[in-house]
Amino acid sequence: MFVNPENYFSILKETQAANATLVAVSKTKPVEAIKELYDLGHRDFGENYVQELLNKEAQLPKDIRWHFIGHLQGNKVKYIAPFVRLIHGIDSFKLLKEVNKQGGKNNRVIDVLLQVHIAQEETKFGFSEEELNTSFNHELQELNNICVSGLMGMASFTEDMNKVRNEFKNLKRIFDQHAQLQTPNFKLQTLSMGMSADYKIALEEGSNLIRVGSLLFGKRQNG
Ligand SMILES: *Cc1c(COP(=O)(O)O)cnc(C)c1O
Repeated sequence: MFVNPENYFSILKETQAANATLVAVSKTKPVEAIKELYDLGHRDFGENYVQELLNKEAQLPKDIRWHFIGHLQGNKVKYIAPFVRLIHGIDSFKLLKEVNKQGGKNNRVIDVLLQVHIAQEETKFGFSEEELNTSFNHELQELNNICVSGLMGMASFTEDMNKVRNEFKNLKRIFDQHAQLQTPNFKLQTLSMGMSADYKIALEEGSNLIRVGSLLFGKRQNG
């Protein structure tokens, strides 16, 4: 047993009370662990590594909605483009164009979230607020095989929950600002923020998609 059903249903209830979606982050966990949650009715799963996702996708039911939440390399987009439900971590225009190209080859529109750099740490990937403000209006026009359907962010890795809250507040503000401007392939609806350690704060600050791993599946050895 990887999953404690009572624990799952209690997190699910909190998520639903906030009108949010719970993505179960299953990276490094075996297919049996995913199957346990699947059998409880769960369908949204998040993975960070392309090869691992491909292995799992091949073994598991086709009605799973796979979220790619890791750092995606351009040369690997083609492998997940046929089936991925949502790519959370778009952190460059170049990557967005590659997703668009692969979407075209697969005859589909791929939903993506732009990752916004909200933490103070220099190591986190993502766009700055300035980049979002300047680069995304006209350039998106020719990209008919992607839809920017939201934003994603990760708070600082810190015990200081005030700091985390402020970073989430900031992302929500940026989200609200850009949500007003809607075009056929830029429609912000999803705000992906919050993980095991900070999902409660994220929900309070307006997240409508949380990505929870260790709290559902237990601690990871690595990754
Ligand atoms: C691993 C990961 C998560 C889940 O982390 P937990 O702390 O186990 O809940 C969420 N989001 C991203 C981007 C991750 O890489």
